[in-house]
Amino acid sequence: MTEPWAISGVTVRVRRSPRRRTVGLQVRPGEITLYAPARVPLVTLRQIVDARREWIAHHLEQYASRPVSTWNFGDGGTLPFLGETLHLRTVPGLRFIRRENSELLLPPGTPEDTGPRVERWTRRMCLPIYQQLVNGAAARLNAIEKLGRVQISTAQYRWGSCNAQGDIRLHWKLSRAPLEVLEYVAVHEAAHLLEFNHSRRYWALVERALPDYREQRDWLKEHGHTL
Ligand SMILES: [Zn+2]
Repeated sequence: MTEPWAISGVTVRVRRSPRRRTVGLQVRPGEITLYAPARVPLVTLRQIVDARREWIAHHLEQYASRPVSTWNFGDGGTLPFLGETLHLRTVPGLRFIRRENSELLLPPGTPEDTGPRVERWTRRMCLPIYQQLVNGAAARLNAIEKLGRVQISTAQYRWGSCNAQGDIRLHWKLSRAPLEVLEYVAVHEAAHLLEFNHSRRYWALVERALPDYREQRDWLKEHGHTL
């Protein structure tokens, strides 16, 4: 390609995989990715994308008009945390973040300091709950003996992962989602302990453990970027 390939100013990235059989298109905020089998010629890929140009542009526009995560870490702000709402209060002289019932007490600081501080606090505090949820999900799926370590993830654009050793990671930002959504991601990854793919068999496992999983999956697609 001589010219950059872009729609509404967003570059189209092509990712080829020899195992893929079909072409898949994914649109995320500021990102268009085309997943393609190894041998499909670029000309064909361009035709496929051109045919869906309007659909892609529409999605990008929708993302742009939605709010991205802009948390107010000042006094009086609120923060969702594992299904609860914490009220933020700045306390002069305080050195470390501390939770007191439904209040999150913050040391004085600019939003630039406080954001990362709250993130570190969240990552530390949500780990035991994540471990509990993943353990529960693995037990429900009869996969507990395959479960490795449960850890907190900070990956971009991935809510969770499960590796071949059975280690499961869930994103710390999920602590700001409704609890059912977090539980869905726990079940999603735990089901990968049994099926390392997204086959029909895999989704049947997920559905058995969590009959309304589609609702939670849709919530993440729609609101995930605001967390
Ligand atoms: Zn998966």
